[in-house]
Amino acid sequence: MKRFLLPLVALLAYSCCQQAAPEADRPDPVDYVNTLGGTLSKYELSTGNTYPAVAVPWGAHFWTPQTGRNGDGWTYRYDATHIRGLKLTHQPSPWINDYGAFSIMPVTTGPVYEEDARASWFSHKAEKATPYYYSVYLADHDVTAELTPTAHAAAFRLTYPEGESFLVVDAFEGGHVELADPSTIVGYTVHNHGGVAEGFRNWFVVRSDMPFRACPSAENVALVTFPTAHGQKVHLQVASSFISQEQAFLNLEEVSAGFDAVKAAARAQWNQTLGRVEVWDGDLDHLRTFYSCLYRSLLFPRDISEINAEGERVHYSPHNGKVEKGYFYTDTGFWDTFRSLFPLLNLIYPEVSARVQEGLVNDFLESGFLPEWASPGHRGCMVGNNSASVVADAYLKGIRGYDIEKLWEAVLHGAHAVHPEASSTGRLGWEYYDSLGYVPCDVGIKENAARTLEYAYDDWCIWQLGLALGKSEQELAPYKAAAQNYRKLYDAEVGLMNGRAQDGSFRRPFSPLKWGGDFTEGNSLHYTWSVFHDVQGLMDLMGGADAFNAALDNVFVMPPKYDDSYYGFPIHEIIEMTVMGMGNYAHGNQPIQHMLYLYDWSGQPWKTQARVREVMEKFYSPWADAYCGDEDNGQTSAWYVFSALGFYPVCPGSGEYALGTPLFKKAVVHLPGGDLEIDAPANGADAFYVSALQLNGKAWPHNYLKHSDLVGGAQLSFDMSTQPSTRRGTAPANAPYSMSRNR
Ligand code: CA
Repeated sequence: MKRFLLPLVALLAYSCCQQAAPEADRPDPVDYVNTLGGTLSKYELSTGNTYPAVAVPWGAHFWTPQTGRNGDGWTYRYDATHIRGLKLTHQPSPWINDYGAFSIMPVTTGPVYEEDARASWFSHKAEKATPYYYSVYLADHDVTAELTPTAHAAAFRLTYPEGESFLVVDAFEGGHVELADPSTIVGYTVHNHGGVAEGFRNWFVVRSDMPFRACPSAENVALVTFPTAHGQKVHLQVASSFISQEQAFLNLEEVSAGFDAVKAAARAQWNQTLGRVEVWDGDLDHLRTFYSCLYRSLLFPRDISEINAEGERVHYSPHNGKVEKGYFYTDTGFWDTFRSLFPLLNLIYPEVSARVQEGLVNDFLESGFLPEWASPGHRGCMVGNNSASVVADAYLKGIRGYDIEKLWEAVLHGAHAVHPEASSTGRLGWEYYDSLGYVPCDVGIKENAARTLEYAYDDWCIWQLGLALGKSEQELAPYKAAAQNYRKLYDAEVGLMNGRAQDGSFRRPFSPLKWGGDFTEGNSLHYTWSVFHDVQGLMDLMGGADAFNAALDNVFVMPPKYDDSYYGFPIHEIIEMTVMGMGNYAHGNQPIQHMLYLYDWSGQPWKTQARVREVMEKFYSPWADAYCGDEDNGQTSAWYVFSALGFYPVCPGSGEYALGTPLFKKAVVHLPGGDLEIDAPANGADAFYVSALQLNGKAWPHNYLKHSDLVGGAQLSFDMSTQPSTRRGTAPANAPYSMSRNR
């Protein structure tokens, strides 16, 4: 029954691995996942700002126990003592908050329904949290509540004590509920925080196998009662739809097979999806951390499309409020996730990437823009125009089956326009950028330097995509030239990127420690490295490899000083940097997460290996404090997944991965094109330096791997050592791609 995805030959091949438990005793991948990782978070300090999402991979609707009050972004906190309900959620981040949420709560303490009155003590010791199943003992009510999900529905099993029992369905502020018949509650929820069309509703149906009668409650809350015997199980079938009440009833079909069958199917779906990557390690915590990170990488963006009565795939468009054809993915911020989450999907889950790209076509057709921060429609949040990276990386890595010409039109449009309501969609300041080559720091546009650096990379992505699509040199020339715009912000006097005024003067006084201002949730020390596509060009600006390496080293050894004057207080990302003991390196936020890999370009790859391993071991865990800052929709998790495999996509769109240090003695990625096997038998806690690498049996001296060499299956054999190899990968020719070197 276990390891059902693994071919027999593979089983035989791996049986030599001494560190692993016997195969027959090995848990399934999903059994390593801790969904509570990252939930020990609060406003002031994030260890992930996650919640235990109970869902199928990329499911339209997630469920979570709810410890916070309705509307509180910190929906589940590990240190909370009470549960107020089991909530259907679409929340991508506490900072963006939720939409389309409603909750279900069993009650036995009388006809109470308000969220404080119905709340119950609970313990993690009487809680079972997995991706496919959640169970908790609600002490005040002596009820064990269980739930298991599908993409658009869920099955509940509530085990009641003897007596008069109740059930609450809370449609949140502004919502509506009513009894459709003596065992069915229907309604809709309208609670949202923007990004929805007029008239947006999430319609739901709750059907019970126990008839009930209504008690007095509120317009937006249903309270029903029924008698129960000791240990009586009440089963609920719950479904919802963004399209209509009728569609919600159709979606009930997903749970018609009953609780145990739904649970088995959801478990199998997770094992199949997680099982594309297999890793072996004697350290159980490594396995738990790895699969917990992989789980977090497979939730967002969610697919909100539904199958209608005619059997067609359709979706409610949050852009125009109409029911449109095809896929639609949402709840992700590209500023975070272009970096490694989408590259992870492009490598390991290309069939999902193809649907995501089809969804992007629909975004453009329905709104005139590609999203930058979607939840579910366009939201004004963060900076950049990194949809260009998401589109280019997928196409350049061979993802097909969607209208790429429409996406070409979309990326060109977004490069010279800004969304009238969501200012982070398109390019804020594009007029300045197109004329000056940068967004000036004195024209009232905040975070201008961060925007410029990302626009320049995005222009490189557009250029690369255009080349692949055979666009004319004339059409591509402006983007190729603009890809070098990062140079305009390099302030040679301070040796870092800096804000620049319209007249060409750099910002003075300049503080490399100042967070925000010209940068986004980081300082110049963090953002200077955002030249993903031309690290060699940046190195040349800084005066060569020695100066570049010294500047990289400096980030780690300097004290964690900061200037928070832009915010007026130390935002949580600042605190998360200061407490990690790694100087000004801020792995808790996205702008710098690729920086550890840049020694691959500058002849000192052993420093990359040491730092990457240090971050994997220190900043990630399988426990409630799993992360060192916001997890952010799979990005910080995908960093770990890639890094643990031994490489990382520093420059999406380049078709290359920068080499790091594999965490495991053995890993196998079951790519659709063939198995990617990664062996490092001498790997260990102190043996994290790469002394040699063979690709398919031949010496590979470079600090990069080509996607094209991996995608059809490959064998990577690492020789690991406790001592840095100061010879391997040190020649300029060993460096990964840089635009300036045209390789
Ligand atoms: Ca972040």
